[in-house]
Amino acid sequence: MGRTTLVTGIAELTTNAAGPGTRDGDPTGLVADAAVLLDGDRVAWAGPEREARDGVGHALGGRPPDATVDAGGRAALPGFVDPHTHLVFAGDRAGEFEARMAGTPYAAGGIRTTVAATRAASDDALRAGLARHVAQALAQGTTTIETKSGYGLTVEDEARAVRIAREVTDEVTFLGAHVVPPEAAGRADEYVDLVCGDMLAACAPHARWVDAFCETGAFTPDQTRRVLEAGAAAGLGVRVHASQLGPGDGVRLAVELDAASVDHCTYLAPADVEALAGSWDGAAGPGGAVEPGRAVGPGGAVGRGGAVGRGGAVGPVAGRRGTVATLLPGVEFSTRQPYPDARRLLDAGVVLALASDCNPGSSYTSSMPLCVALAVREMRMTVAEAVWAATAGGALALRRDDVGLLAPGARADLVLLDAPSRVHLAYRPGVPLVAAVWQSGVRVPPTPAP
Ligand SMILES: [Zn+2]
Repeated sequence: MGRTTLVTGIAELTTNAAGPGTRDGDPTGLVADAAVLLDGDRVAWAGPEREARDGVGHALGGRPPDATVDAGGRAALPGFVDPHTHLVFAGDRAGEFEARMAGTPYAAGGIRTTVAATRAASDDALRAGLARHVAQALAQGTTTIETKSGYGLTVEDEARAVRIAREVTDEVTFLGAHVVPPEAAGRADEYVDLVCGDMLAACAPHARWVDAFCETGAFTPDQTRRVLEAGAAAGLGVRVHASQLGPGDGVRLAVELDAASVDHCTYLAPADVEALAGSWDGAAGPGGAVEPGRAVGPGGAVGRGGAVGRGGAVGPVAGRRGTVATLLPGVEFSTRQPYPDARRLLDAGVVLALASDCNPGSSYTSSMPLCVALAVREMRMTVAEAVWAATAGGALALRRDDVGLLAPGARADLVLLDAPSRVHLAYRPGVPLVAAVWQSGVRVPPTPAP
């Protein structure tokens, strides 16, 4: 048992779990006038404040909590889970962004600009940039973050990227198949051999996931399949970038290969939507199909004390769960592309996550509150759907049971908003509403250290 903190005075608590004070059928497990008890790095109890005396007494065996924090009528929710970023890079592409806003269309080839800058940077420069971005995300409530390699594209540079990424998060993805590097132009199949061979061997020990960019101008479906199958054979979980710039076979390939997530999903055929929805048939999952709370910790694949603990070893990705469609509205915002049709996906029963895709080319924001606002305003998701997708949905996209919810056994990742309800995340875009953040039970500064 660790240090215990009781947070009281929460006007509105999003738990994403069934528990005291929640309504049947509400996947966001909303509780009015709530309290949460944190015990070390775990949640020990959550529910209506009027039941806190009994709940806390039971959880602590009659002992009083070590500290009490009055939230003063603010809203609270689980820390955001951002399951898609590219944060190991150097330089920026402000000039490209400015030109794009003046009419030059986005193309995947711009990635090569960042590859050149990243290769030229020192380890310490990459480390400092990564730390700054992770701190900025944390200040905006992101307590779990995935990040990828993909700007090195040589064996040494990709291995360096995943090694540095692993210093800040367990959720590291090997993305050697981001784009064909300039020195391999016209020899994509040979480059894929390298990705599946020496590059994968050098990166797999530091990564939990393998990913590939299945898109015209990046990799074909056949090349994508080779990379993902090689990664899976090396023990990595599968995720895919697909259907960002146009339709293709990437989404169905992702489902076939049991990807945890397929990301972008802007241009989808009916068969893609069907495959995504069908991937959850008979799988342990959430959404309408899953009782909230069933996803909770102990006994789960990567739950309490599981393989993906803080500072612990990166474990294998758990068994089949269904493929999440991770939508990245910062990309459409920053490239003036059409937004994905979230309503079509939700109506078909597809499980959605939201992610920032923070990267210097197509979406240079790490703000999950901005993603929630865009999802509500531009993609017509309800506030409840968007907040769920930015927390519980992200956890599913990483096949994690221990984050994205506030229920006994979950990791103590809590965000307090300087607002009485979560609606304000969409209603007041651009306002710094994240008033306090606990990550693994530790209260973190609301602004990044200089
Ligand atoms: Zn991406």
